[in-house]
Amino acid sequence: MQVPAYVDYERATSVEHALALLARYGPGARVLAGGHSLIPMMKLRLAQPETLIDINPLTELDYVRLDGGELRIGALTRHAGLLGSPLAGAAAPILHDAERVIADPVVRLWGTVGGSLCQADPSEDLSAAFAALKATMVIAGPGGERTVPARMFHTGPYETVVAPGELLTEIRVPVAPGGGSAYVKVGRRAGDWPVGAAGAAVRLDGNVITSAGIGLTAVGAEHFCAAEAEEALRGAPATEESFARAGRLAAEHCRPVTDQRGPADYKRHLAAELTVRALRRAADRARGPGRGA
Ligand SMILES: Cc1cc2nc3c(=O)[nH]c(=O)nc-3n(C[C@H](O)[C@H](O)[C@H](O)COP(=O)(O)OP(=O)(O)OC[C@H]3O[C@@H](n4cnc5c(N)ncnc54)[C@H](O)[C@@H]3O)c2cc1C
Repeated sequence: MQVPAYVDYERATSVEHALALLARYGPGARVLAGGHSLIPMMKLRLAQPETLIDINPLTELDYVRLDGGELRIGALTRHAGLLGSPLAGAAAPILHDAERVIADPVVRLWGTVGGSLCQADPSEDLSAAFAALKATMVIAGPGGERTVPARMFHTGPYETVVAPGELLTEIRVPVAPGGGSAYVKVGRRAGDWPVGAAGAAVRLDGNVITSAGIGLTAVGAEHFCAAEAEEALRGAPATEESFARAGRLAAEHCRPVTDQRGPADYKRHLAAELTVRALRRAADRARGPGRGA
């Protein structure tokens, strides 16, 4: 079956209007952003919303800006928009690393940052990147706005804390001097979903790591991060030995499964190796001239 079931359609004209429409149509309503996940799922009847609330007209949610020591990304920012943002590239190069290897230009032109995060695919790239960056999600609902740490955002495969009637509106990334970040992915071919991927964000004082974030995707890492590896890095020197230890811990604590993309033991190997590579590149960037998160 390649045709979606009958569905009502509403076009929101503002965040307030989108929230009012979500309230009016109740739990049977779904937000439509780029549609690159939702529409294929509807065609396969894996999703059967009664009403689509199209948020594409909400240009107010399409931005990347620096504000109060944070990089702020509107939820309707397209992948291509984030990749094309010099601000994002300078403040958090991990985001450009990740965006360069997400899908293909067509998907990146329509797919949105918010849609990717809300889809909550366990192999999604930006979820790992924002987990490494220790970002914060801003969610608007009938009772106003609330913020949730990126690491609390996903509650399981294809599940998030965004309730029916709510809208993810913004992602906030802390930015401070002395930081560097990077993302490394292995896929079966260009533009494919990851077999495994790791992101790292570190801050250095001299050669000492004062804070470390490690994001992992497609390898069954809880909350898309490697908490034990991060803990081991805090206060450690930014050396190959420290990175190798972090890689071992990341691999030890993830729970990859064998599937069409590869066997579990290979994915575990990737978790270790890609963590090391991401940390190495993030630390190099933290030492270099174009420093960011
Ligand atoms: C061929 C192909 C290859 C891909 N490769 C990769 C890849 O390598 N790596 C990767 O990470 N991803 C990949 N993707 C996924 C792609 O990045 C996502 O499909 C897309 O970005 C999802 O965003 P969207 O705007 O299209 O979301 P939609 O499909 O419109 O929505 C997805 C879900 O999120 C909800 N939603 C959307 N926006 C909001 C919001 N603001 N608030 C609350 N709920 C919301 C929708 O209701 C829906 O449930 C690929 C997709 C395709 C089609």
